[in-house]
Amino acid sequence: MAKKILIVGGVAGGASAAARLRRLDETARIILFEKGPHISYSSCALPYSLSGTADPASLFLMTPERFWAQHRIEVRTDSEVTAIDRAARSVRVAEAGGRTYDESYDYLVLCPGAEPILPPIPGRDRPNVFTLKDTEDAAAIRQYIAEHHARTAAVIGGGFIGVETAANLAASLDVTLAEAADQILTPLDHDMAQILQKELLDHGVHLALRDGVAAVEDGAVRLASGRTVPADLVVMAIGVRPRTALARDAGLAIGASGAIAVDADGRTSDPAIFAAGDAAEVALPLLRRTGRLSLAFPAQKEARRAADAICGRTGPNRGYLGSFGIEVFGLRAAATGLNERDIEALRIPHDFAYVIPFDRVSLMPGASPLHLKVHFETPTGRLLGAQAVGRGAPDRRIDVIAALLAKGGTLEDLADIDLCYAPPFATAKDAVHLAGLVGLNLLYGEFRQVPVAAVRGLVEAGAAIIDVRERGEYAAGHIRGAVNLPLSELRDRLGELPQDRPLYVHCRSGQRSYYACRLLAARGFRDVYNIAGSYLALCLYEYAEDRLTGRAPIVTAYNFQ
Ligand SMILES: Cc1cc2nc3c(=O)[nH]c(=O)nc-3n(C[C@H](O)[C@H](O)[C@H](O)COP(=O)(O)OP(=O)(O)OC[C@H]3O[C@@H](n4cnc5c(N)ncnc54)[C@H](O)[C@@H]3O)c2cc1C
Repeated sequence: MAKKILIVGGVAGGASAAARLRRLDETARIILFEKGPHISYSSCALPYSLSGTADPASLFLMTPERFWAQHRIEVRTDSEVTAIDRAARSVRVAEAGGRTYDESYDYLVLCPGAEPILPPIPGRDRPNVFTLKDTEDAAAIRQYIAEHHARTAAVIGGGFIGVETAANLAASLDVTLAEAADQILTPLDHDMAQILQKELLDHGVHLALRDGVAAVEDGAVRLASGRTVPADLVVMAIGVRPRTALARDAGLAIGASGAIAVDADGRTSDPAIFAAGDAAEVALPLLRRTGRLSLAFPAQKEARRAADAICGRTGPNRGYLGSFGIEVFGLRAAATGLNERDIEALRIPHDFAYVIPFDRVSLMPGASPLHLKVHFETPTGRLLGAQAVGRGAPDRRIDVIAALLAKGGTLEDLADIDLCYAPPFATAKDAVHLAGLVGLNLLYGEFRQVPVAAVRGLVEAGAAIIDVRERGEYAAGHIRGAVNLPLSELRDRLGELPQDRPLYVHCRSGQRSYYACRLLAARGFRDVYNIAGSYLALCLYEYAEDRLTGRAPIVTAYNFQ
């Protein structure tokens, strides 16, 4: 007999499950319930609709009418599933117009997504306070800006949605982005996030770090520090929580992360009910646990997996690395695998390679520095995670590393991999290769390094910092207290270097200082460290905090080139 399959939620997961079910089973009756008025739209493009980068009308990828015409999938919009009766195998549906009814199922797929968290603060119910979750939210924000001639906005929360929202609102408004943590985008390492913070500051976005929201007031937001920031409009983006009420009320198992627990096929604790997307847990093998991942690809893939299992197809579930990307004005960041905090929490012995080559042959138009940081396990060289920031294609490098990481790849794999090259989009020895080679050099003890995060402490302690850039570069800006011994003069001036204390060597990006480290080691200097990322990474690391806190810079002048 033909199966009857109900799906709750009609966007990323729900629509994917429905389409896959139809491809596998032409006879099944498939009904998709969506409590909102639209299905299958691009949530991920919503922030870009605030600046006009994405045409609001183009967000919709499928209509109920087309779903029926092309796939014979019944779509019921404005229809909220409010309860599951597992014994009777039926759900209760409440239509926006007030009618309620029950619908029976053989299989049920839950893809209700996640909902924005609203902090319990005074003023949160004011009409100028928004979240950004669906197309109606985006339309409401655009309408409010237009009707109230809004000039200022406060975005609360520096996660992906907050940062993208702030950057897009900044096209027309004076925007403050407030974040309670000490950096935006906490899935990124602290040093990588600093580069994006500078980009926000450079584009006029006001940043308030280490400052949560206390209240929404007339035309302003009061932050936890007591500071108020102007806000005709407020967007709350402090995070999302999985929508689990339906599952909880039906007695389905909930995982430790708070999302619906599922097995490798997406089956919940009830064999007739499957779950996928933001509401359900996924396997996170690098973290050695299951957990939540509010990302579009896992939502679509796990929904497909659930559809497969309903139709008797199962396969291995390798889980997720958590790869992600974000664009902030013209700057892109991408990452895969574990970040520094994860690695330290897991107590994995590790090191990292940080390289800043040009993203394409430097003489080509548009060439710009690409920051690539690769974490690896010691002493195995197994890849653990990677992050990249740049104006070219950091995402491409991260995708390459993600592919290797997923297969248990090592630094050797990174250094060896055969990639496509032509001057407009890469260098013959790509950033990916360089990171592999630098990592191998570290692994085999060819040199040692300190991160840019350590430099302020070194300066304050009066450490011996050797700047091996050329004289003109030093004159244009240098670390306070650093001694200039250009690489081209170093062999002749070794006598000027102290023998009895550690030497911390840097250049612009870390390459010349690596040569210097090798030279010094060969000439008998034992305690020599390269400053990873060198002056360029240091300036980017220090800049936003210097500006935001007013502390004294440790460089005489920043150089971001
Ligand atoms: C602004 C924004 C930007 C994003 N950017 C990115 C990005 O760049 N990259 C990325 O990977 N991910 C991004 N995401 C996350 C990605 O969109 C989600 O991970 C993905 O949409 C989750 O799919 P889902 O099906 O679980 O939930 P959703 O796509 O949210 O769909 C859930 C649907 O279920 C409906 N629903 C809920 N409860 C019921 C009910 N009881 N009855 C009927 N219907 C119900 C909801 O109305 C909703 O339409 C972004 C999300 C947002 C909001």
